[in-house]
Amino acid sequence: MLFRLVLLIFTLVVMQGTAKQPRSIPKYTDWRLPRWVLPRHYKLRLLPFIEEGNFTIDGQVDILLECMEPTTMIVLHMAEIRIAKDEGLQVYDLVESRRVPIQSYIEDKTRQLLVIGTKNETLQVGNQLNDKLNGFYRASYTENGIKKYIATTQFSPTDARRAFPCFDEPGMKAVFQITLGRQKFRIAHSNMPLKRTYQNEDLPDYVWDEFQKTLPMSTYILAFIVSEFEGLDSPEIDLQERTRFRTWTRPSAGKQTEYARILGPRVLRYFENYFNISFPLPKIDMFAIPDFAVSAMENWGLITYRETALLHDPLRSSAADKQKLSFVLTHEMVHQWFGNLVTMEFWSDLWLKEGFASYLMYVGLDVVEPSLQMGQQFTVQETQKVFAVDSLLSSHAMSMPVKKRNEINGLFDSIPYSKGPAVIRMFAGFLGHKKFQQGLTSYLNNKKYQSAVDDDLWKAMSNQSIDALELPADIRTIMTSWSLQTGYPIVTVRRNYDLQTAIVTQERFYLLSSRNSSEFPLWWIPLTYTTDFNTTYQAWILGTEDGIELELPSAPTDWIIFNVDQIGYYRVNYDENNWKLITQQLLKDHHAISTFSRSQLLDDSLNIARTGSLPYYVAFELSRYLRSERDYAPWYSAFKSFEYLDRMLYQTPSKDKLRFVTSEFFYEKGIRQMATTSCVRTNRFEERKGDSHLTISNRNQLISWACRLGVAECVNNATALYKSWMAQPDNNNWVKPNYKRAVACAAIANSGDEEWDFALERYLSTDLSSEKEMLLYALSCSSSPEALNTLLEWALDANSGIRRQDSATVFGSVSGNPIGSSMVFDFVLLHWDKMVKEFPSLAVLGRLVDTISQTLDTETHLENLVTLSEGGRGDLGTSTRAVQQALERTRINLEWKKRRFQTVSKLLDSWSRVQTFS
Ligand SMILES: [Zn+2]
Repeated sequence: MLFRLVLLIFTLVVMQGTAKQPRSIPKYTDWRLPRWVLPRHYKLRLLPFIEEGNFTIDGQVDILLECMEPTTMIVLHMAEIRIAKDEGLQVYDLVESRRVPIQSYIEDKTRQLLVIGTKNETLQVGNQLNDKLNGFYRASYTENGIKKYIATTQFSPTDARRAFPCFDEPGMKAVFQITLGRQKFRIAHSNMPLKRTYQNEDLPDYVWDEFQKTLPMSTYILAFIVSEFEGLDSPEIDLQERTRFRTWTRPSAGKQTEYARILGPRVLRYFENYFNISFPLPKIDMFAIPDFAVSAMENWGLITYRETALLHDPLRSSAADKQKLSFVLTHEMVHQWFGNLVTMEFWSDLWLKEGFASYLMYVGLDVVEPSLQMGQQFTVQETQKVFAVDSLLSSHAMSMPVKKRNEINGLFDSIPYSKGPAVIRMFAGFLGHKKFQQGLTSYLNNKKYQSAVDDDLWKAMSNQSIDALELPADIRTIMTSWSLQTGYPIVTVRRNYDLQTAIVTQERFYLLSSRNSSEFPLWWIPLTYTTDFNTTYQAWILGTEDGIELELPSAPTDWIIFNVDQIGYYRVNYDENNWKLITQQLLKDHHAISTFSRSQLLDDSLNIARTGSLPYYVAFELSRYLRSERDYAPWYSAFKSFEYLDRMLYQTPSKDKLRFVTSEFFYEKGIRQMATTSCVRTNRFEERKGDSHLTISNRNQLISWACRLGVAECVNNATALYKSWMAQPDNNNWVKPNYKRAVACAAIANSGDEEWDFALERYLSTDLSSEKEMLLYALSCSSSPEALNTLLEWALDANSGIRRQDSATVFGSVSGNPIGSSMVFDFVLLHWDKMVKEFPSLAVLGRLVDTISQTLDTETHLENLVTLSEGGRGDLGTSTRAVQQALERTRINLEWKKRRFQTVSKLLDSWSRVQTFS
């Protein structure tokens, strides 16, 4: 286990106190790398041993450096690589062909730096294939009863330094020449195609695979895999002449790659045309990794996925599984340009790659796979989802300065991933899609093989468009009000019905009222409004003013709706009379208002009501129209808000009233009347031929809710179907795959140990990972605290059969179960130190804190969180912000109980007494 690091310096020599005044810093204090030398070329050779008992790695890296400034110090990244002495570290000056003596080197473990002072000292390093799902790590799977290992990588964002010493910042691009050692029966992959294979002279069973040189690229998108996997080619399409496309899995899962194999090249070709820039690499390999910390990773030419994000069985996978696969795959394909070809200069601008990958995913899938109806899901999946986080005082801006290394992982939250695309959608909306697309192409061409900052984007966009557009300010000014400021505005429209005008004002939207904030941020807001969804009017609120007066095109008896189709990233509140006019329209004929806007009206009104800026009865009145709603998105928005109420009222007498009201009035009078849900009444949850994807998705959420609300027919059907499965365990058709998740959850929630044990046994035995995920979720639906506790303990036990990658999912889904939510919180507090150590990434822990804090609403919860954030639990690392947000959310929930609980209880009380609610 030797690791040799050789640094070759061309151009200027590393100075040793001669010529120009050298920089002489005895101690390097920054956590970012200095730019005194920059890497240009890496020659990396790694030999991972993949055997029980020996997971060590031998390695050597030669790095060619360009010296930009005289220095006596070379600083690069290295983490958990063991250093041994003996010629391991060498520095050469290529200009004068001499070896540079090394004075000293220091390994700074906190900042993960290797600081080399040039005089004389040498070092060698060795490291290990870890089981923490980061760096160069090992994953395992069982095939024909034999446990097998695979060596694979996850370097993003800052773990390439765990595999080899390197300049591990996205802006420090270089060319990489990779060689991997392997036993002869395995196969090795890296970003580029194989160049040659040759015998390892020391080890007869081993060979070296040398790969072609890469294009200039960042370290975080490098990837190495040594496996016994099998690969299948994608069907030929014209792309294949330039790019060979293959998908790799453990051999027994090969059949499950068909959908991805067909979709992959189609999506790649779509984006080649969209950007008008060819994919520059000769191949793409996609790998389904049995243990993977995130959904997928866009490594250039070697994309890695969690199995559930790549494998698909047409007979057993659900429509939701297929959507997730398509969603993730397309997102990763966009990254081949946004992220890989042009990379953000540093992680602070993460949204530059994630925002575009998520936004363009919708654009691409709507063309390549229109049956998934992704575009129609945009606002509920992105805008409304991220509003929940971005309504917090403790949210953060899209562009975010990073002050410490361990803040980087914490940036991977819904702000870049969901606010990014939502703001980009607004941008494309007012710029026009054609100009937007041209601007992107120009940005990519200008900066290809380089790194970029947001200014480069605004510049490229401005060059495309300005003259033909009537914008109130330059693009940079408008857009940075969204990308650099935290939060988002609520626009309030107060009509003067006599004068047919309105005062339209903006302010930041907060869920917490008791806050100390003296900031009053302003945004450049593209207003759109309509009175009939035929004509859309436009105006701007400038980023220099908090409001404007508008003349309205509507008569006093007409409703008016702002932010048409929720293209803008803001909420809208109205005077009560306008809400009333909108409600009347919805009750009379809701189709007069677009589906996007119906979903937006529900989400806005029910969330604004939480803050007290709109009386709850107004929002409840509006939601009455749901009895005739048939579309997915409005129901989705409504369920999110009802879920909040259901959680807040849990363990109070009002819970039953809410459940009664929602089930009686929305379910009985609404859902049940829906032609599409006649399925709930029949013995089985049936489908109709030709049902659209969203019809299926809608039916799925309705079944989940009906069962959750305790509607007897739903629960009885679910339990009976599950029993039929238990009687015939190998019958995969016990219910349509689309409803397995909802039905198994309902059955387990309403039955005993036998049902739970059966799900557990199926979980351990199935070979389809999406089915595993479904069953793990179903197990978390149990009403038995003992069962839930067992599940939590297993999630932290490496030998339980629950994979490390799935433990966060377990905590998340148990906390989604009202019986489990408080339990998870107590469990996490109790095991915090262990979890910090065991979790594959602290970012996962952050996300976990985020999920389980949704339901915290007592003073004890608050005290415990304060203790966690302040009291001696060590560095919270990347979950620092998540804990801050959990604290704020708990305060919001406490405030809600104090200020809104009575009102909502009374409303539910009177409604549950009035049987006719129409
Ligand atoms: Zn991404």
